[in-house]
Amino acid sequence: MKNYLASININAHDELNLELKKYALENNVPIIQDEGLAFLRQIIQIKKPLRILEIGSAIGYSAINMAKCSKAFIDTIEINEQMYNKALENIDKANLNDRIKVYHADALEINIEDLSNYDIIFIDAAKAQYKKFFLKFKELLNNDGIIITDNLLFHGLVLNENIESKNLRRLVEKIKDYNTWLVSQEDFQSTIYDIGDGMALSIKK
Ligand code: SAH
Ligand code: MG
Repeated sequence: MKNYLASININAHDELNLELKKYALENNVPIIQDEGLAFLRQIIQIKKPLRILEIGSAIGYSAINMAKCSKAFIDTIEINEQMYNKALENIDKANLNDRIKVYHADALEINIEDLSNYDIIFIDAAKAQYKKFFLKFKELLNNDGIIITDNLLFHGLVLNENIESKNLRRLVEKIKDYNTWLVSQEDFQSTIYDIGDGMALSIKK
């Protein structure tokens, strides 16, 4: 089903996007899937955010694409120095320096007073820390704001009962914990969708 839809849906694959996707594939960088990006793009087009915060820039692929479909200013946080440098390079190539600011920091360490308030927060970094990211950054969300979380189905591993690696099993448990915790948060209305690698929309009540 997903292959069929992928074959008829038109994705925005300009030259830079193709280059970034190739780089991500060759270097095992887990950038957002086409279907997830299409969803994210349309949420942004409907919501028309002024400011977006992203946790986990990697090579800047999602930030660049969020900027391209909106007029938003984007702050994005990346812990890994190599990724941070790659993100800067790509944002420069995309000519989006004036709208995307990359912070080289651990999102859990960054002082939220150095950031601003946001209409959309996209959580896409270390999966074991999702609950901490959510609790920390929801303080910066405007009324009617949306938190979007990626990779909640973790390549279908959330349904796999026979994972051999103990570390992987632990991570999967963390993601499942986050999923059930997220949908029970009373200050948000959250739904998890089987889109891309599993994405949640949490709308602040
Ligand atoms: N949003 C990107 C993909 C991000 S991949 C896209 O779709 O194009 C996840 C990234 O989160 C990795 O680059 C990883 O280095 C970063 N990361 C992991 N833990 C982090 C943390 N605590 N703070 C900031 N970045 C983190
Ligand atoms: Mg992701």
